[in-house]
Amino acid sequence: MSIVKLIVQEPHKVLRQMAKEVLIPEILTPRTQNLIADMKETLKNTPDGVGLAAPQIGVSLRIFIVSEEAEEIDRARKSGWERRNRETPEIRNDKPYEEREWKCYVYINPVIKNIARKKTEDSEGCLSVRGKYGTVKRHEKITVEAYDESGKKFTRGASNFFARVLQHELDHLEGALFIDRAEKIMDTEK
Ligand code: ZN
Repeated sequence: MSIVKLIVQEPHKVLRQMAKEVLIPEILTPRTQNLIADMKETLKNTPDGVGLAAPQIGVSLRIFIVSEEAEEIDRARKSGWERRNRETPEIRNDKPYEEREWKCYVYINPVIKNIARKKTEDSEGCLSVRGKYGTVKRHEKITVEAYDESGKKFTRGASNFFARVLQHELDHLEGALFIDRAEKIMDTEK
């Protein structure tokens, strides 16, 4: 049974700790598997989030998850039909956008293998910094090596929005938040 966890809010100290590596034989233990299941359940419960790191539910381990919705956002932006896509069901999926169930990619002990020099600026928010958003410069492309939840090592390259999400989540494992990097921080309208 997976449980929806409370998302830790800034200025909780767990958000500022350097998260610990997961021991590889620990990946398949119920403790780690339950943690990942809880993270998925928690992210699913927050419709405005596309990524979640273990410290955000109070566990200082090097694990984060990214919803495949991040890929969908990239696809939508590329084809320039983000609005329309959110309003009308997609051809290859009969469910309305808001009701779609997204799978998650799990990154355990992620390591940056390659990063593009070029950066782009975009707005960003965080489930642990409610009520604020800001513009943050991030590298346009990144390649990350990590273990998945079955303990298999993988390497994945990402660009644009997905690359931004990866960098945001990697920061969480270092105890960093987007507000540390943001050029401008604004309050979201209530
Ligand atoms: Zn965050």
